[in-house]
Order: sequence, then C-alpha cells, then structure tokens
Amino acid sequence: MIFTLHVLVGALIGKTFSSLVLVIIIAILSHYILDFIPHRSPRAVKGFKERGLRGANKRDLILKTVEPIIGIIVIVYLIFGLNKEFAGLMLIGSFFAFFPDFLSYYAWKYDMKRFKRFLPVHGGMLYNNSKSLIVGILTQVIVGIIVLVLFFL
Ligand SMILES: [Zn+2]
Repeated sequence: MIFTLHVLVGALIGKTFSSLVLVIIIAILSHYILDFIPHRSPRAVKGFKERGLRGANKRDLILKTVEPIIGIIVIVYLIFGLNKEFAGLMLIGSFFAFFPDFLSYYAWKYDMKRFKRFLPVHGGMLYNNSKSLIVGILTQVIVGIIVLVLFFL
C-alpha cells in the first residue's frame, strides 16, 4: 500500500503498545497484512529501474514524491503535535511499518532473488495487486479511514 498508510498504521501501533519489541514485531507484520489486502500502489518512477535517479522521468518523480511528503507532514503532526508523550514508540512503529519496503528496494537493487520471496514485493506471493483500480483504491481509502478513526478514539 502507499507509504502514508504504512507509516500511519505504524504510528498507531506505537501509540497502542508500550513494549518496544512488540511495537517492532507488530509494525513489521502490519506491512505484510496491508500489502496482502488487494490494492493498487503507484509503480516505480518511469526510467528509475533502468537508469537510476538521473534517468528517471522528472515529472513522474515529482508526482510520486508528493504522496510520501504529505504522509511525512501528517505523521510529524500526529506524533509531535498531538501525541508527544508517545513520540518515541510511534516513530519506531512508523519506521518498522515501512521497513519491508526498504528491504524490497535493496533486494531489487542487488538482485537478491531468494530473499525477494519473503518480501511484500510487487508480483510476489505476499503482495496482492488488485485487478480493479477502483477496488485497489477503495481498500486503501477504507484502511485510511479506519486508522484515522482509531487514532482519534
Ligand atoms: Zn510494501
């Protein structure tokens, strides 16, 4: 799923649980659970896989940077603006909720085929790409609403 949803869920986990180990484990698991729900996420930036950052399509790059930046602004506000007392665990939760995507990036970059099987990568068995664009967006909207409701309960 999109970056914002992963980090939001991670922050919620950090706010909910008080054990560091538990937060890390549940945050990592949350990434797998979210990516197993049928969804549509934006593809890698055009040209990036072949030619790296310099060869990437600039328009596509800027467009696909907008969502993570909005996500970071929202999460910084949620953590430091509204939940300062839980800030440490919420940051850790957010980081580990996104962590599998860092691993996926390195597995792709260094072509670690065996390792890839255990990661929620596009086309992998742990990743559910929705065939329908509308369903793929709707599932993420629903997850987003649920997470925000749980945050403000
Ligand atoms: Zn993912």
